[in-house]
Amino acid sequence: MGNQNKELTNVDIENTCQTTSVFYNMINSINANICTIDPDTDIILFMNDKMKIDYGCDNPVGKKCWQILKPNQKERCLDCSMTYLLDNPHESLSWESKNNQNKCIYQNYDRMIQWTDKKSVYFHQSTNIIGYNEMEQVVIYDELTGIYNQKFGDNFLLKQINHAKNENKNCVVCLFDIDDLKKINETFGYIEGDHVIQVIIHCIQTQLNKQDIFFRLNGNQFVISFYDNSIEQIQQFMMNILDQLKATNLSKKLKYHFQFCFGLYLVTKKNTLAISEIISLVDEKMYTQKKKIHLRKAHQELRHSSPLVGEFDYNKDLLYDALVKSTDAYIFICNMKTGVFRYTPAMVEEFDFPGEILSNAAVVFGEKIHRDDKYEFLTNNQQITDGRSNSHIVEYRALNKNNEYVWLRCRGHVEYDKDGNQDIFAGFITNLGKKNYRDILTGLYNKFEFKEQIELAQGNFSVMLLNIDNFKNINTLYSREFGDNILRIIGQNLQTIFSKEATIFKRDGDEFALLMKTTSKDTLKNIFKIIQNYCEEEHSYENNPYTFTITAGAVIYPVDGDKYLELIKNAEMTLQYGKRQRRNKLSFFNAIVAKEESLHMKILNVIKHDITNQYRHFSLVYQPIVSSKDQHIHKVEALCRWNHEKFPNIGPGHFIPILEGSGDIIRLGKWIFKEAISQLKEWLTYDPLMTMSINVSYVQLLEDDFLSFVQQTIDSIDVPYSQVIIELTETSLAKNYIALNAIIIKLRELGIKIAMDDFGSGYSSLNLLKDEPFDIIKIDQSFVRGIENQPNHLTFIKLIIELCHHLNFIVLIEGIETKEELNMIMPFNPDYIQGYYTGRPMSQNLFLSHLQKK
Ligand code: C2E
Ligand code: CA
Ligand code: CA
Repeated sequence: MGNQNKELTNVDIENTCQTTSVFYNMINSINANICTIDPDTDIILFMNDKMKIDYGCDNPVGKKCWQILKPNQKERCLDCSMTYLLDNPHESLSWESKNNQNKCIYQNYDRMIQWTDKKSVYFHQSTNIIGYNEMEQVVIYDELTGIYNQKFGDNFLLKQINHAKNENKNCVVCLFDIDDLKKINETFGYIEGDHVIQVIIHCIQTQLNKQDIFFRLNGNQFVISFYDNSIEQIQQFMMNILDQLKATNLSKKLKYHFQFCFGLYLVTKKNTLAISEIISLVDEKMYTQKKKIHLRKAHQELRHSSPLVGEFDYNKDLLYDALVKSTDAYIFICNMKTGVFRYTPAMVEEFDFPGEILSNAAVVFGEKIHRDDKYEFLTNNQQITDGRSNSHIVEYRALNKNNEYVWLRCRGHVEYDKDGNQDIFAGFITNLGKKNYRDILTGLYNKFEFKEQIELAQGNFSVMLLNIDNFKNINTLYSREFGDNILRIIGQNLQTIFSKEATIFKRDGDEFALLMKTTSKDTLKNIFKIIQNYCEEEHSYENNPYTFTITAGAVIYPVDGDKYLELIKNAEMTLQYGKRQRRNKLSFFNAIVAKEESLHMKILNVIKHDITNQYRHFSLVYQPIVSSKDQHIHKVEALCRWNHEKFPNIGPGHFIPILEGSGDIIRLGKWIFKEAISQLKEWLTYDPLMTMSINVSYVQLLEDDFLSFVQQTIDSIDVPYSQVIIELTETSLAKNYIALNAIIIKLRELGIKIAMDDFGSGYSSLNLLKDEPFDIIKIDQSFVRGIENQPNHLTFIKLIIELCHHLNFIVLIEGIETKEELNMIMPFNPDYIQGYYTGRPMSQNLFLSHLQKK
């Protein structure tokens, strides 16, 4: 504004005076009340004529606002908007008020403005929206009760909630609904119905506080908003009212009740709900209570209306005994107040319960429910306990005394006591046995049906068990739910492909079975070829690609077993053998399979026992790794030994895969890792540059806690991360690369080095090099074997060393046994050499003397 400093001319002054007087006239003639107040003193600075008339005061200027506007007050109103605007000078307030002085309702608008002396003053304007006289009472108030009607009630409720918000207070909104009003009107007439309403409203109204709001929502529903109270206080308050009404009923001996149902909702200062939303929430709460009471009444009425129930007397215990004897189903009864269950003797017998009465049924029976059905079972029961459902029909499998899962169908109902609380939950459990013959997930026949069909099969036949290889990876990579969908898809596809040749079954986990009429091995091989072709197709589900292979084991009836148990045991043995030795292939049961598997089982039993007995018979040996530049030994590889007198020739190449298959490698692997790190700690005192190479199985890496275990072990023993090498075999890496990649990255971030072991022994060697997640490449000893006669091997070693150096990997050649081998390899400049020639695996003492000799 460029003319701020410009001197005022006469014309300007004249214009200003005229303008001022015009504005003054306008403000005085306006049909709204306007005044300004000094917020420091509460003194009125200006009040327009309309407001003076409304409040019947001639000379308000210079007087305190409350003296004029609220003559009974001795100070500023507690909820004066001036207080709020002083703290929030840039805001404005819009609100409604009722003035008892002049009996009017005003729509107010307040804000701070600059006064003539530049001071910030309170500017108030208000419009009289409704006269508070008798004629107009009808509009604001409900005629019958004299409390606000819905329209105004809503308005005041909004104002109260906003006010509470500003004051940092809560409101409790209560909605109540008078019971049986319709019935009272119909039976005793409307005057009596009106009387009931008036008695209830009067009883409440006389006990409310000034700041509470009370209005009629519709015919028999009313709303009260309690200012600055807790839900518990109001719950108590309303219950007291109900008690008082009950007392009135009794004293007057009326044929009807003064009674209502109510719901409560706490409106906090964080509330963002609109009034209508709050009302519908309270309505919902009230409705729940109403439903409960109706139910209770219905029960009572039923008892009273049916003379038979009242008059017919019988012994309930005998009834129970009679029912137990006359049904094949199991009867259960639960006292919902104590949670104690009673089961019939047949059920106790079938499931080997400790007794008929169980106070911890959830634990005793819960343990017997099949893992896949537990969720459904628990959810269903929770709904009953929470009162969200009064009855249930649920089917699930439970383990009986013979360790077999049987299907049970449970139907039960909750009965309430006269106060509307859950009293008993009782019903029947039907033992369906194997009646449910379909697998829930895939829709295929399940394992019970598998057993039944084999037992009933006529003539010769064959069975092929299929197992998905590394299915755990699909679950790990995506989710269990995703995995379930893949199982469903595979099952359905097998069903479609072999609809003529075989009956398909889903067994536990990721296993399927084919039952076929043929006994020709060639036909079975062809069938398996079709399965392999199916596996090799590109698969994706919801745009997520996945790959899988299948391993199979087949048996032929009756040559491989003429009883179900024997036949299936042999089929399972063949599959297990295939999983360990011939993945992605079909194996037939034969004597070699039987022998190897039984040796495998024997070793597994003994070795498991040793692991649980403080790693008895286990030890570590150490093989030096020599630098080809200066022949120094700064690196050593830890190799595990198991020296059991009964199994003298079982080396780690044999027992590690067994333990990988059983999962026991996880426990043993931790022991090996700790032992090797502790050994490293000791040798660091002789050679601070010593580095320990530890073989780790991919099974260990897939465990969730592997990283934290490694970190904790290295930290607590206190060795440098950079002097620890983890060796992972190429084959395990290739098979599980996607799942292992993330953990390898994390290990390397810690500073741990990763070596790819047995490089060149698998099929994906070069492929793995591309991504470079390793530090060291250990070329498999099979390339050194026979380099004298096989020039190709030498060329491979030469090219791989060059390639690895090009990609900045450190290269180690394994299995150098002779001086000749060493001489042939050295010109290609490998970084390290490991083999019998430079040092055999040796005990820790021997290795130490080796170190000390240097
Ligand atoms: P690897 O990791 O490739 O270990 C090298 C194997 O080659 C060792 O066999 C070692 O004794 C042998 N070896 C070393 N130099 C020569 C040589 O010049 N000529 C010949 N013929 N062999 C040599 P070992 O100790 O029987 O271990 C076999 C495999 O068992 C290991 O192969 C490794 O994959 C696994 N293994 C051994 N210890 C552990 C362990 O603690 N944890 C895990 N997960 N696997 C282990
Ligand atoms: Ca190794
Ligand atoms: Ca190796």
